[in-house]
Amino acid sequence: MYGKMYTNLLAWGIKVMNDMYKEDIEARWQLLVWRTVIAICGVTFALSWILYGVHRVEKNIGSGLYMLEYIFIPMAIQIITLVVCYFMIKADNISNEKKNYVVIGLIFVSIGVISFTYYSVLPLIMLPILTIVATALFADQSLTIWSGVVVAILTVIDMVRYHFEYTDSVAGLNWVGVLSIFLLLIILLCVMVVIVNTHTKALMSSIMGSYNRQVTLMSELMIDPMTGLYNRRSFEDSLEKEIERAEQTGAKSYVTIFDIDHFKEVNDTYGHSNGDIVIKALCKMMKEKSKDMGLAFRYGGEEFVILFHDVELSKVMNIVEDIRTEFRCYYFHFMNKDGITCSCGVAEYIKGESSKAWFNRADSALYKAKESGRNRTVISE
Ligand code: GH3
Ligand code: MG
Ligand code: MG
Repeated sequence: MYGKMYTNLLAWGIKVMNDMYKEDIEARWQLLVWRTVIAICGVTFALSWILYGVHRVEKNIGSGLYMLEYIFIPMAIQIITLVVCYFMIKADNISNEKKNYVVIGLIFVSIGVISFTYYSVLPLIMLPILTIVATALFADQSLTIWSGVVVAILTVIDMVRYHFEYTDSVAGLNWVGVLSIFLLLIILLCVMVVIVNTHTKALMSSIMGSYNRQVTLMSELMIDPMTGLYNRRSFEDSLEKEIERAEQTGAKSYVTIFDIDHFKEVNDTYGHSNGDIVIKALCKMMKEKSKDMGLAFRYGGEEFVILFHDVELSKVMNIVEDIRTEFRCYYFHFMNKDGITCSCGVAEYIKGESSKAWFNRADSALYKAKESGRNRTVISE
């Protein structure tokens, strides 16, 4: 029971960690971007009130029109975008990849609004850095490339607009030069990001590869390759754990040992490979019939154990007898006479008993079953 739990838990843990790590990081970065945009909007809103006096005189327009054009409309666009984005980030039916695009869209809209409202160069510098670096760290390369392309287009539009609307103040500005530097910066950032991202992904997949190999090795150490049952090593582990559990909870636990009758003769008559078919058939039955109540192990060559936890004896006997009779009736294509039988010894755990004593009692019961004619189950007193 514990052997199975270990491998399953480990494999499950690594898988969940893998998924969660990725999903958690993605969810966090989406929220981080969302909160950063709120902060940027808050600062812009505060600044727009502080600069209200100076800026309005400079613009030479009425206060109502100024407020509408420079404060309320940009803020309304920001708030609507933020709210829509928030619900999209939280929605269950939108994939994480799409959410990444949504938050990048949010950065573009927000910084675009500020940039277009105030003709400020600062957002133009922030935009490529924010989007490209953020997508590099948290999202994927294709998003980085797309961000780079959009940033480049927006930069060109804004620069051209800046050039035409501020002809006086930027008369001496070599805007083609500035634009070229911006575009170069964007391309450089994109290239760097792709290189770093590729390297990180290769590193991650090598780490996950060695984790997966470790899980495979762990399960190989515990599972018998021929039958797929847990092996003797994991049985011994599980038996100790079962005792701890039974001592703590007072639940009833049973060891049941199965041994194929006259198996040597089966091998001698039908060959070793047909003997293997017989073993596999019994193991399949044991595994299937005990799956809800206990765990099946291959203890030795043709000896198998089911460890039952928290089950009544009547239930244990039902399962054991079911396996025994079904095995006896099983049709093996290579045989032309009666079926092969097996014997079974059952022992309930007695409080304070050692694992060895418990197992030996089940083994003695099996011995009695063999002595009294085989093809039967004996319960230890
Ligand atoms: P009993 O009814 O008293 O159990 O007699 P038995 O012949 O089953 O017992 P014995 O211990 O004399 O023989 C067990 C045989 O099981 C001997 C061994 O060659 C065979 N065996 C053990 N492991 C395997 C296996 O993986 N495949 C095959 N085909 N035979 C195996
Ligand atoms: Mg044997
Ligand atoms: Mg045998």
